[in-house]
Amino acid sequence: MKKFFTLFLSLLFLFSIFAYSEKAKEDPLLLKVKPAELTPLKKEAFSWLDTNMAELAKINEKIWSYAEVAMEEYESAELLASYLEKKGFKVTRGVASMPTAFVAVYGSGEPVIGILAEYDALPGLSQKPVPSKQPVEEGKPGHGCGHNIFGTASTAAAVAMKEVMEKQKLSGTIKLFGCPAEETVVGKVFMARDGVFDGLSCCIQWHPSSVNGVSLGSSNALNQFEVEFFGKTAHAAGDPWRARSALDAIELTNIGLNYLREHLKPTARIHYVILDGGGAPNVVPDYARAWYYVRDINRESAEKDYERVLKIIEGAAKMTETIYKIRFISGVHEMLSNRPGNEIVYSNLLLVGPPQFTEEEQAYAKEIQKNLGIEEKGLKKEIEPFKLPQRSWGGGSTDVAEVSWLTPTTSLGVAFKPEGTPGHHWAAVACGGMSIGHKAMITAAKVMAASGIDFLTNPGIIKKMRAEWMERKEGKEYKSPLPVDLEPPVKPKK
Ligand SMILES: [Zn+2]
Repeated sequence: MKKFFTLFLSLLFLFSIFAYSEKAKEDPLLLKVKPAELTPLKKEAFSWLDTNMAELAKINEKIWSYAEVAMEEYESAELLASYLEKKGFKVTRGVASMPTAFVAVYGSGEPVIGILAEYDALPGLSQKPVPSKQPVEEGKPGHGCGHNIFGTASTAAAVAMKEVMEKQKLSGTIKLFGCPAEETVVGKVFMARDGVFDGLSCCIQWHPSSVNGVSLGSSNALNQFEVEFFGKTAHAAGDPWRARSALDAIELTNIGLNYLREHLKPTARIHYVILDGGGAPNVVPDYARAWYYVRDINRESAEKDYERVLKIIEGAAKMTETIYKIRFISGVHEMLSNRPGNEIVYSNLLLVGPPQFTEEEQAYAKEIQKNLGIEEKGLKKEIEPFKLPQRSWGGGSTDVAEVSWLTPTTSLGVAFKPEGTPGHHWAAVACGGMSIGHKAMITAAKVMAASGIDFLTNPGIIKKMRAEWMERKEGKEYKSPLPVDLEPPVKPKK
């Protein structure tokens, strides 16, 4: 009997270890969300998107081929604005003193659902829709971040929602924001300062990606600026004692910064490039210019780091007997994520499913991966699990963060570039303007339209979103990082 009892105890012990290890395997960050229901309203939105796929793909391809960089997006913005106008939206162009920014409005009253669209390209990334590096025109811009798909999908979602609202006589307002210059972290910051995003109940946005998922993560706050030093020139060998080197001032600033790093919190990130450092070694440069990014985990920390960087610049000017001028370019907050809103988006991503790529498209993606010497996995076929974010340091910054401080803002990523390919790369350009990009566009549009319909028809969701948003703001109100008199860096139409 005793023997039997010992056996029983050991079995119980083994079982508890097994049960414990099974439990330990379950990711504590994982959040369980069920697929959303396919309601008649969503069905209608999806069928409008499917019916209009060819026209939307054409818009996507056009913006891809325009490939206009930040603040030069004249044709891209006009294409989307005039399409929205044709579909019954009231469009205001040139908002926040930027000719390539616009707002398109449909409907009236509450709730007011915002949708963000971006359309700026990146310099030097020109690329044909082929799986090896072949620029259309060497050195010209390309859509290396997929903003052609971004702008088209958001516009498509807005029109699909409008079609449903009109047919079903739903009340509420849709506001599609045409946001220029995301790549320079500029457009939405000026739009936010000028009150363009005021009065929203919530806002929907997405970004083309290499994965399909919804992130609850944040992004870094940032201040970016240029500093110019002015000194005195002289012959670098003949009479250098008469000179005061502007380049020395920049070098001493950077030495100071690199010593400062040790005494900043590990969350701080500072980077710079020298834009102008003189013309010849035998002429002491009387002018030099550099561009700095100061980032940190939140606005307060970024501001504190920035103040210390300014002191170093002042010190460098004193040491070199030069004078300096700061040109503040832009600043952003850290992103506030919204769990109730993102749960709705995720449930709609589960409903819509990831883009269905053909074998040909997968082979195209694998060819790109082969040419880049990375694992030939093709394009993502699955949806990433919905998870609480792990603490992460040193990520990038986005001007979407400004909107997230003004209203609860959701996120979404849809795969359009092969797994493992870098960001801001020709591989993304190669996929964005052809069938792979079109499929990502229509998937994102469906998920956003379905989520928008949920926000329009279920006031309880927005209530929850706003309650969590208030909590996350911790009593802080949005304060623009921009000086009040700073003008946007507008570029004339070519
Ligand atoms: Zn981007």
